[in-house]
Parts: sequence; C-alpha cells; structure tokens
Amino acid sequence: MPTTPRSLRDIGSYHAHVYYDDASRARAAELRERLAERFSVQLGRWRDAPTGPHPSAAFQVAFTPALFATLVPWLMLNRAGLTVLVHPNTDNPHEDHATHALWMGPPQPLKLDGLPRSLRAAGMPPDGVAANTTPHLADTI
Ligand code: ZN
Repeated sequence: MPTTPRSLRDIGSYHAHVYYDDASRARAAELRERLAERFSVQLGRWRDAPTGPHPSAAFQVAFTPALFATLVPWLMLNRAGLTVLVHPNTDNPHEDHATHALWMGPPQPLKLDGLPRSLRAAGMPPDGVAANTTPHLADTI
C-alpha cells in the first residue's frame, strides 16, 4: 500500500467500455442510444474488432468524474447483460486498466503490454472528454 493515499484529483476522466459480440450488438446499440439520451458523454466509434487492450468488440463512453455517481449505477441497472469495463484515466493507463478498473459482468483478459505507465513521460496528452451527446431524458435517470 502506498504510504500516502492518492488524491481523486489524479483522475481526469473515466471510460466505460461496453463489450458486445454479433449476438449482442443490437442490445449494445440500444444501450448506446439510451446513454446518449440521458448523459452528456463522449461516445466513441463502434469497434467491431478487438482494439488496444480490449479483447472484444466494444464502444467507449468517456465521461467526467462529476457523472460517475449517476452514470455507473445507471449502467449497473441497465447494461442488459453486457460486460462493461469502467476505468479511471490518470497519468498511468497501464495501472488504470490492470489495477484500478471495475467490471460489470465477467472480467475479460486485457492486453496490457502496449499501455504506457506514464502519459507525461511518453509525451502524450491526458485523456479528455469532448461530449458529443445531447441528452433530453436526463431527468429520467
Ligand atoms: Zn478506456
């Protein structure tokens, strides 16, 4: 255990990765639409093949720390049997995925080798959130 607890200020944003396959893609599409109707988030592209550390087809939902307390419980209730990986975005993507992630549904083996241990050291910008949804049902969550 570190001698000094880390601050929540280390977390710039979060990702939820919604995993799907051919049989569950329609459910994933419905979940994606429901998310967009309710939350101001950045929805990533459909990734129909494994991408980066993710072993399955998935789409990404980037969101601010302010949304964690509503978006994550909403996903718990509405993920429709889909596996969802939620991880913080700090300076260390490797730890964010390997150590700090939470899973809804069965955990999947991630490919961690390509993930940097410091974005700053790698000269990479931190992950941000550029919301691209226009929620109109936010009052129903
Ligand atoms: Zn991610």
